[in-house]
Amino acid sequence: MRRALVAGNWKMNGRTDFINELMNELVSGIQASAVDVLVCPPAIYLSQVKSMSGSFIAVGAQNVSENPDGAFTGEISLPMLRDLGCEYVILGHSERRSLYAETDLVVADKFIATVAAGLKPILCVGETLEEREQGKTLDVVGRQLKAVIDAAGIDKFADAVIAYEPVWAIGTGKTATSEQAQDVHAAIRAMIAEYDAKTALATRILYGGSVNARNAAELFANDDVDGGLVGGASLKANDFIAICHAADA
Ligand code: PEP
Repeated sequence: MRRALVAGNWKMNGRTDFINELMNELVSGIQASAVDVLVCPPAIYLSQVKSMSGSFIAVGAQNVSENPDGAFTGEISLPMLRDLGCEYVILGHSERRSLYAETDLVVADKFIATVAAGLKPILCVGETLEEREQGKTLDVVGRQLKAVIDAAGIDKFADAVIAYEPVWAIGTGKTATSEQAQDVHAAIRAMIAEYDAKTALATRILYGGSVNARNAAELFANDDVDGGLVGGASLKANDFIAICHAADA
């Protein structure tokens, strides 16, 4: 039985006061929970969020360098994230792939470094609208996933999380239908099973793309949807709490 995970990706949003208020509301709204709850603030606020996160909310980063500490101006290392108590790192988000030219190989290097540092990667995969319309969804998702499995080895997926995030659904208000999400999630699980059946059964596959308090329950009801990666709605305490409860149902 896979334990659901609801992860909030705050992207490049927030200020000290806003985050204090949001975290206070989340901590009082998310008491003992049957789902794992994670927030991923901008790196500069990780310390603040970690100091407020309490027992039931884990803290993660939105990106990390694949390199060890050293001469990499502007980057953040895995030992730094560990030092601050981070448990997860989002890797290969479509915004990193499209705006910062992160290739499958860079994402694979980051994945390998993240697992080696003892943090849990959340590997994002997903197709653009054009790719979906050309019937290439599974080719694209398969390429992104297999690039990492082939580089890292399936044994490194024991604590990994996959996030299926159709690019056309991220921040657009357009959500994949429950059926579209389930179809791709089942295909991802089958791709992992080609390497190792046990890992396929254990791996949590999150859906991301305009998840909100109204559509979360229907998406999470699918057999292969093990929670969500939530952008915009994770900045509104009541909505994020409602999404966590939807995963708990
Ligand atoms: C995301 O940033 O990963 C995301 C899914 O954003 P949104 O929920 O706003 O579509």
